[in-house]
Amino acid sequence: MTRKCPLCRREAVKDGNKFWPLCSERCHLIDLGKWLGEEYRVPAEPAESEAGSEGLPGADDNE
Ligand SMILES: [Zn+2]
Repeated sequence: MTRKCPLCRREAVKDGNKFWPLCSERCHLIDLGKWLGEEYRVPAEPAESEAGSEGLPGADDNE
């Protein structure tokens, strides 16, 4: 069974496709990002807002 992917308009195969009705993970991510962006509008936050509880200056090479 196939159906047109709503995002890229290619044939999306249903069998074994966990991203159905999208054709692929790529379109799944696009779709996810699209409505996440529209619904939530989360401002971009830096991953680490506070620098270093135990960061030693000049000790960049720990490993
Ligand atoms: Zn697609």
